[in-house]
Amino acid sequence: MKKSGVILKKGKEAILQNRHMWIFSGAIQSYPENYEDGSICPIFSHDGHLLAHGYFHKKLSLAGRIISFGEKHPKEALFSSLDKAIALRESLIPNSTNAYRLVNAEGDFLPGLIIDQYADCLVLQSGTLGMDKLKKEVASYLAAKKKWTAIYEKSTGSSRKEEGLSSEISVLFGEEKQEILVEENGIKFKVLWKTGQKTGFFLDQREMRRLVFSLSKNKRVFNCFSYTGGFSLYAAKGGAKQVDSLDISKDALELAKENCKLNGFSLDKQNFFAEDAFNFLEKKELNYDLVILDPPAFAKKKKDVEAAIRGYRELNALTLSKMPKNSMLLTCSCSYYIENELFQKILFQSAKNAGREVKIIGTHVQAVDHPINIFHPEMHYLKSLLLYVT
Ligand code: SAH
Repeated sequence: MKKSGVILKKGKEAILQNRHMWIFSGAIQSYPENYEDGSICPIFSHDGHLLAHGYFHKKLSLAGRIISFGEKHPKEALFSSLDKAIALRESLIPNSTNAYRLVNAEGDFLPGLIIDQYADCLVLQSGTLGMDKLKKEVASYLAAKKKWTAIYEKSTGSSRKEEGLSSEISVLFGEEKQEILVEENGIKFKVLWKTGQKTGFFLDQREMRRLVFSLSKNKRVFNCFSYTGGFSLYAAKGGAKQVDSLDISKDALELAKENCKLNGFSLDKQNFFAEDAFNFLEKKELNYDLVILDPPAFAKKKKDVEAAIRGYRELNALTLSKMPKNSMLLTCSCSYYIENELFQKILFQSAKNAGREVKIIGTHVQAVDHPINIFHPEMHYLKSLLLYVT
């Protein structure tokens, strides 16, 4: 009997035997007749062995994503992956933190799905047509656990366009709240999930923010690309004698100020600059002991890599050239296409161009709620270097 499902070309079964979660179009021999894009279907080797279940989008180069391996029923795998993701956070996140990534897509064996927890609310982000077809079931499954009072959808990522999907912002369950008050390591933040960037907050820098807390005592700190003040608040809590924040978004800075007040930090020792970072760095002195550079991704696509390298090189050279002797720079890149080694090479060029002596004294620690699937390391996008500048 002919098996109905996606059939892979000869030799391509190794992809799934290695538990990688993506299938590119070149590996596919045939689709089942009348296959509806985004629906889950079985995947067979060329000689008819069932390898996995996944969803596909025929016109995309990254055509398929796996939901379950072997014979496991895909829905069973979906719910068990959700349970495992929840259990991991329950065992690792301390009580002083109630904002964290509950589901990290492929990192939690749930391709196309990101879910961030903000106190008693969840914000779900679907990046694919396949996940769009599953998101209501995911929301009902989570709502039935009665751990959260609301589940919102904020699917606005750039990948949706390629999938032929528009942005979706809606309430999937519970009452709509505009503002959510969260705590991260005991520091309070207001999260505007609907109007803010991404799902409202950058949870991935939690460990680096903690590092800034430990380095800030009596320091003058400059948080460049501050968004709503994440690093600034940790610096203030860590005893910095001055904290300045810069972001191009006025709204983000207004929220940064509110967040300071929320925690009882005086605004007297803080300046907020709403302007372009490159303009600011070109014209201003940088009399700071610790500078943080956490720009948006300069390379969102592979074709942007060359321009992104130039961008990171100039940004860091400009900053390094202006920093005082014996100061520190925490510099970050969230571009997946700029790998660790490349980022370090870029910083080498920046240091050389700036004519500074630079030592690496720390490297990035990934927050525990952003696990990387060992079979699918592509989720590793964020990297940071802590540099000592003389
Ligand atoms: N460090 C922050 C996250 C930074 S995200 C945190 O811990 O929360 C990157 C930020 O860069 C965004 O807030 C965005 O508004 C800002 N940004 C983008 N382009 C910019 C530019 N040219 N100059 C200054 N800020 C910019």
